[in-house]
Amino acid sequence: MSEDQQKKNAKHKQAMQKHKEKVDANIAAADIQRGVAVLLTGNGKGKSSSAFGMVIRALGYGQKVGVVQFIKGAQLSGEELFLKNQCPEVTLYQMGTGFTWNTQDRSGDIAAAERTWAEAEKMLTDATYDLVVLDEMTYMLAYKYLDESKVLETLAQRPTEQSLVVTGRGGGNALQALVDTVSEVKDIKHAFKAGIKARKGVDY
Ligand code: ATP
Ligand code: MG
Repeated sequence: MSEDQQKKNAKHKQAMQKHKEKVDANIAAADIQRGVAVLLTGNGKGKSSSAFGMVIRALGYGQKVGVVQFIKGAQLSGEELFLKNQCPEVTLYQMGTGFTWNTQDRSGDIAAAERTWAEAEKMLTDATYDLVVLDEMTYMLAYKYLDESKVLETLAQRPTEQSLVVTGRGGGNALQALVDTVSEVKDIKHAFKAGIKARKGVDY
């Protein structure tokens, strides 16, 4: 090995050591054990698919998972098919109406939102659930289909060990303040805008 390479390797080792010390210190400092609430928001693609990634993580440890989908497209998505057919242990509840811009029926949508929230509430008050996913729930707050203060109170009062994932654009400041982690998926480009059709296994 050349002297230059040896120097580079030593420098790399030193940098990695420093990085490891920092990571270890951060890990040691995080000593609170409880469920976490995650909000996945933003205009880019990846919110629901990230939430379903966490469903798989939880299932890998044999945890109990509940999924509530507040907006359901006409097209069944792959994750819905998978959960229905392969994961009978996952409680899956779907609002059952199409997108609101398709139904154009506000009072019908509100009734459906309330029915769906009642199912979410059951999970959020049941400590046997390790993870609850409320997919596309932010829209129910944005359209005022659900009472925000009631929803936020239930989220905040959920069992200590229970983790929660909420997806959807927006969500509001109060929801952001309540949860522990907020990630915004930024739309840099999307295939659809270049005329590429939504793809099975990628988009649904
Ligand atoms: P995904 O389910 O793929 O993780 P998402 O949950 O972040 O997406 P949604 O707003 O729920 O996004 O929309 C779901 C569908 O809309 C997916 O087919 C996705 O590819 C598409 N989509 C998401 N963001 C955009 C965008 N910025 N432009 C065009 N289509 C989008
Ligand atoms: Mg989504």
